[in-house]
Amino acid sequence: MSAETSPSLAPPAHTQPGAVAEIIPPFDTLTGQPLVARFLSSAVENHKTSHAYLFIGPIGAGKNEAAAALAKALICRNGGCGKCDDCIRAARKTHPDIKIVDPEGAQGYVAEQIRELIHDTNLAPIQAQNKVYIITRADQLSGAPANAFLKTLEEPPARVIFILLARTKDSVLDTIISRCQVIVFRAIPEVEAVTLLMDHSRVTLKEARIALASTGGSAYKAKGFLVSSAARTLRIKVMEAIEQLGDADPLEIITLARDLLIYLKQPLDEVKVEQEKQLAEGGEFLSKGALSALERSQKRQLTMRERETLGEVFNVMRSWLRDCLALKVGRTDDVVNVDFLYNIEKTAANTTEAALVRSILAVDEAEVQIQYNVSVQSAIEALLFKIRKELVRYV
Ligand SMILES: [Zn+2]
Repeated sequence: MSAETSPSLAPPAHTQPGAVAEIIPPFDTLTGQPLVARFLSSAVENHKTSHAYLFIGPIGAGKNEAAAALAKALICRNGGCGKCDDCIRAARKTHPDIKIVDPEGAQGYVAEQIRELIHDTNLAPIQAQNKVYIITRADQLSGAPANAFLKTLEEPPARVIFILLARTKDSVLDTIISRCQVIVFRAIPEVEAVTLLMDHSRVTLKEARIALASTGGSAYKAKGFLVSSAARTLRIKVMEAIEQLGDADPLEIITLARDLLIYLKQPLDEVKVEQEKQLAEGGEFLSKGALSALERSQKRQLTMRERETLGEVFNVMRSWLRDCLALKVGRTDDVVNVDFLYNIEKTAANTTEAALVRSILAVDEAEVQIQYNVSVQSAIEALLFKIRKELVRYV
């Protein structure tokens, strides 16, 4: 292993000596966080990266994307050129020297997992010049596992860089914070997120607003929504189900819920196809251990996507109900789902504000119930029954 004490990089190929620092490619996708992008970009370009970062920011602020961009910039010999084998593998999440570490226990990171991580940091990089560990939930690192990790976090072996992520600073142990360079990500305001999406994804104002409403206001998730035909189909199916509620008898409501479940699975199929590609690619050169770690991480990714998809169903329902409410109180400009305007107008005309508010609360409640292991099908069925009861009694 090299005697270097800090990660270093060859200068990016496109850098002109004395040029004004501009954002280098891996960071140019960091929409809505120009300060963070400039800061990280300049650290990489000037070889002044830290051995440990803590990214703090709300959901949807782009922490994961920034961590992926920084990891790519650190393992590529050209600062994240996007073209070399390191960059391509990084983008496909199959680079053997970039490890994403999610908590393995229900309560957070477990001791054994941290022991393995520490052991792994002592092994030389497999392919690149550096090794990057992305700790996705620094807020879930506490107790004995955290204590075991502190020394390595403070003085990692040469060429090892940690990127820790958390939503708030308060949720992370002071002993962890003090060992990291803290980078704060701002929440991206909705108006700005809409503009960013329109520029980045080349969509209309209407499409950008729908994408944001369907993904709970996260510009990054909205970008994913716009390129996923399964996610867009799911939204339409949720809208259609809610439209048909008024005329549905109990048996039909159960059928509507069942149909939704089918469409819920489709975004997962998109992920599975991508994962199979990753595995096939990884199979060429990854060790048995690295391959099974990849499989474990894919499984977690699938569970996470499943949860997100379900969240999208609730977001779409909420946004439809909010649109009805907006019309009810005369705020026509606030209506997002203009492609379903006819039904929104009809519902708004035939119901009360209170019934709409109760329906929105029912959606929130169903979302909480699912976290407590209530089956998805029964939660969605119960929710459709509740919304129907609230909205139809006035028709
Ligand atoms: Zn590269």
